[in-house]
Amino acid sequence: MPAWRAQRLDALPPYLFVEIDRRKKAAIAAGKDVINFGIGDPDLPTPGFIVERMAAAIRDAANHQYPAGIGSPDFRRAAADFCRRRFGVALDPEREVIALIGSKEGLGHVPLATVNPGEVVLVPSPGYPVYEAATIFAGATPYRMLLREADVWLPRLDDIPADVGRAAKLLFLNYPNNPTGACAPRAFYERAVAFARQHELLIVHDAAYSELFLDPAHAPVSILEVPGAAEVAIELHSLSKTFNMTGWRLGFAIGHAGALASLAAVKSNVDSGPFNAIQQAAIEALRQSSHRDVVACREIYRQRRDIVVDSLRKLGIAVQSPQATFYVWARCPDGYASLEFAARVLEEAAVVIIPGVGFGQAGEGYFRMALTVPADRTREAFARLERVRWW
Ligand SMILES: *Cc1c(COP(=O)(O)O)cnc(C)c1O
Repeated sequence: MPAWRAQRLDALPPYLFVEIDRRKKAAIAAGKDVINFGIGDPDLPTPGFIVERMAAAIRDAANHQYPAGIGSPDFRRAAADFCRRRFGVALDPEREVIALIGSKEGLGHVPLATVNPGEVVLVPSPGYPVYEAATIFAGATPYRMLLREADVWLPRLDDIPADVGRAAKLLFLNYPNNPTGACAPRAFYERAVAFARQHELLIVHDAAYSELFLDPAHAPVSILEVPGAAEVAIELHSLSKTFNMTGWRLGFAIGHAGALASLAAVKSNVDSGPFNAIQQAAIEALRQSSHRDVVACREIYRQRRDIVVDSLRKLGIAVQSPQATFYVWARCPDGYASLEFAARVLEEAAVVIIPGVGFGQAGEGYFRMALTVPADRTREAFARLERVRWW
């Protein structure tokens, strides 16, 4: 019998969480009280005002038919209005906004839509694994830009070798960043836009965490705030993390009209767009993006962040307090490789953390904790960790 497994699947980087996953399942099966800081999926429900809008939308039979693949005109206008209010960015909703079935769907399809086999795609490392996987699916070659703590997790664009710069067609960026929690200042985006012009490449900026800022004085900026950026960049937004809507599957892409048209051409052959009712609920969400329920969620993440950061420091673990995202990225205690440390934390305390190496070799020596665990359970996890003799 053939295995029915394409070679391109074997070209994907290995999935390094298998062993941790196996041990986690074994701990749960053994009846252990596992506390999971692993998955980046909000534990809080979607705010009621969005759920109510959805309930009404789902009863409207007009919504039961195929949606417009690139999103309804109303949804695209609401997304453009949101970007104008939030970032001061003016967009033409007909050419510069398209709906996505979650931003991951868009990230997965962008290389298919914009690069040719054999071309080079610049991806951050450590980074969200989708950038590299999507590059490989498109037959292109990923080039990993190392992110270092000393550079506050921004890539050194000047260090990219000239031949790589010439061959590169796409540059993936992601700020606020998963897994490091780092934010990029406006000056970095200006530098990136200049780099893209110089090398004639397209920037794909993943802004899934732009609204998950934990300090209201430091709301992240959009790359499209840089003058001329829409000539060299697209930016992907997501309803998932902002509104606790990961299960709903809705995002949108903004920026370069030609790149978005190419993306729409791929999508029209693969999917038929997001459910109309979800788009209508999302219009309400975007209109009320400062609703008290949304602000309250950020406040909850901020409290959890402070507990996690303080508790890690008490354990003697070096950590920067993130200004955005719901991730804390910290250094493993001396002498521990990240897989080994995650395994020991699970073994000794029934606590799940993600080893940094899972985000690429450049993440070795670090681990990630998602702030998706309630405060009392977070304190319980650290009470257990404090009882362990680590070194
Ligand atoms: C969660 C996440 C996304 C995906 O969001 P969806 O809109 O739910 O597909 C994209 N990028 C990063 C870095 C993420 O962590």
